[in-house]
Amino acid sequence: MKRQRMLKAIRDQGEKPWDIIIIGGGATGLGTALDAASRGYRTLLCEQSDFTKGTSSRCTKLVHGGVRYLAQGDISLVLELLHERGLMAKNASHLVKKQSFIIPNYDWWDRPFYTVGMKVYDMMAGKLGLGPSQSLSSAEVQKAIPNLKTEGLCGGVIYYDGQFDDSRLAINIAQTCAEHGGVLVNYMCVTGLLNNRDGSISGVEAVDQESNTPYSLQAKCVVNATGVFVDDIIKMDEPDAPRLVQPSQGVHLVLDKKFLKGDSAIMIPKTSDGRVLFAVPWRERVVVGTTDTPLDDCVLEPQALGEEIEFLLSTVKKYLTRKPTRKDVLSVFAGLRPLAAPKEGENTSTKKISRSHHLQVSLSGLVTISGGKWTTYRKMAQDTVDKAAIVGGLDDTAQCRTMDLPIHGWLANVNYNDPLYYYGSDAGFMRDIVSDHPELGKKLHHRLPYTLIEVIWSVRYEMARTVEDILARRQRALFLDARAAIEMAPEIASILARELARDEAWQKNQVEEFTALAKGYYLEDD
Ligand SMILES: Cc1cc2nc3c(=O)[nH]c(=O)nc-3n(C[C@H](O)[C@H](O)[C@H](O)COP(=O)(O)OP(=O)(O)OC[C@H]3O[C@@H](n4cnc5c(N)ncnc54)[C@H](O)[C@@H]3O)c2cc1C
Repeated sequence: MKRQRMLKAIRDQGEKPWDIIIIGGGATGLGTALDAASRGYRTLLCEQSDFTKGTSSRCTKLVHGGVRYLAQGDISLVLELLHERGLMAKNASHLVKKQSFIIPNYDWWDRPFYTVGMKVYDMMAGKLGLGPSQSLSSAEVQKAIPNLKTEGLCGGVIYYDGQFDDSRLAINIAQTCAEHGGVLVNYMCVTGLLNNRDGSISGVEAVDQESNTPYSLQAKCVVNATGVFVDDIIKMDEPDAPRLVQPSQGVHLVLDKKFLKGDSAIMIPKTSDGRVLFAVPWRERVVVGTTDTPLDDCVLEPQALGEEIEFLLSTVKKYLTRKPTRKDVLSVFAGLRPLAAPKEGENTSTKKISRSHHLQVSLSGLVTISGGKWTTYRKMAQDTVDKAAIVGGLDDTAQCRTMDLPIHGWLANVNYNDPLYYYGSDAGFMRDIVSDHPELGKKLHHRLPYTLIEVIWSVRYEMARTVEDILARRQRALFLDARAAIEMAPEIASILARELARDEAWQKNQVEEFTALAKGYYLEDD
């Protein structure tokens, strides 16, 4: 996957229409591109920034059936999530791990209640289940989570869901798509839609953000998969269309693993504001989240609000014997959920808005896919391409193939003790390079596991273009330890400058831009 090659493919396509152009390179757009390319459709995806710069790198990292939606009675969503969870674990085995979750019970009647609920959850997963849930005594819960608050603890329930690395999976989906002939370009912003004489959509206008080169790209069908930004694209088509998406912000705090000992995650089904709170082990850290704050405006780099941070810290403190404070927060990141906007006069709380996906086609043929979850990206893509094939008059004998399609990097047996395990089958190639060039095995920061080879690999084969692409999404340094990421930036910039033939001014600018951005990811002391 090389950007220059992608741009060449665009030039080679010339005036000939693509079967399908997808706007947006998050989970939804990338999944759609993979589905389309693997059906044999000539596919182009344009992402205005880096792949998963939006919500898709900022999720809780759960591949889950949505226990909360079960409590809300949204059975069809839970069934779909559980099915897709199983497929994701099967097809991206190197990135989806089985994770145990414990619901600690502090009221005597919670234990039978959640035990029965989780048995229903297991049953709904059927053959794709990850392991049977079980009721635990108070002593068993304490053994599994040694630093959980014990006062009033009556027991708990253990159940299993999946955990994954969102931006790494996205890159592997992009690579799989490219291997099927798909063309994907990051830093390619769609600025307008093209129309035929009859008003139907015939393609997009886009601008390469690196060179400022404008492109007019013809397509039989255009898919709008821009997450919380779908309304901006819809307005290019229908300026007076009602708003489709209401963004809701979710914030996560990342703490050192010492705050949550053991291998299990904690799931608190009902916090003081009625939300679900997770504390999940992730890459030798703990991710605590999340909040649900309705917002009016969407930005690519959302900022956690003071009250969201205080809410997460004060809530998690109630359950842990070691109490985290602001200075213990290694990283804080915010993402925007693309929830369905309430209809006029409707006053629905964000917690109650369905997380199912929504597909619509405008009169001029713009296919818009919104909502959903990372876990359901594959099914969303399948539904979208089915619809796009009708709208674009594409060969409708081409069937969806992604149910059984291994994602780039897939491995039959994963060794989670290998520091490169999340590169899956690529790790072997990376190790071969390091054995020829041992200097590339050098660690980049003493608090993080990353090595030089990973930077080189991501620039050459994963289309990383900036310091942020490396530190936020190819590696996860920014999300694991924002201060360490800032310290790593100058070395990353110098490697990138060498690899991409950039000058010193570019290098300096990259470090300054990244440092300014990363300052939003750690907390100043009170
Ligand atoms: C806090 C939080 C926690 C979550 N946790 C989970 C979880 O644990 N498990 C789970 O399954 N789901 C989770 N989700 C849901 C999941 O993350 C989202 O449903 C999913 O990432 C949405 O992906 P998307 O591709 O639709 O949107 P995005 O990832 O936002 O992608 C849209 C892309 O479109 C691009 N774009 C916009 N305009 C243009 C343009 N003009 N030209 C080109 N590109 C453009 C943007 O740059 C962006 O990259 C969570 C969501 C949030 C907010």
